[in-house]
Amino acid sequence: MMKKRIALVAHDSCKHEMVDWVEANKTILAEHEIVATGTTGRLVEDALNNSVEEHKKVFVQKLKSGPLGGDQQLGAFIADGSIDMVVFFWDPMTQQPHDVDVKALLRITVLYNVPMACNRTTADYLISSPLFSDENYQRKEKSYDKYINRTIE
Ligand code: PGA
Repeated sequence: MMKKRIALVAHDSCKHEMVDWVEANKTILAEHEIVATGTTGRLVEDALNNSVEEHKKVFVQKLKSGPLGGDQQLGAFIADGSIDMVVFFWDPMTQQPHDVDVKALLRITVLYNVPMACNRTTADYLISSPLFSDENYQRKEKSYDKYINRTIE
């Protein structure tokens, strides 16, 4: 299967859920590249490498912590086209200090038509989808040429 680059982000109250999800999907996740916001990345890396032999340990690329710019770093990767799937467990019950960054991450992911799971059920559906492992599946990229070349009067 072609390696995908999967981004993981979880707000504090959702971190246990993320670790649990990662543990449940350890085998498949270990076949792909993982990038995550700082704290999520640290926890996920520990979960993936827990009781794994040294040579089989998985490296998780850890960005800055979300509120310190990690969401924006991830947004830049998405705009560059280097992310294939996002699992973003955001907390619908708590105000976040980086609320604008959260909104920006949701927006940029939709803009570039990147599959994104914002809760566990959707994450389960995405990772078990036949399209996830279909090398011929091409994500449609919308053209923004008209917007880029618009006339400014
Ligand atoms: P964190 O960031 O993984 O560094 O906690 C998550 C977030 O965007 O809040």
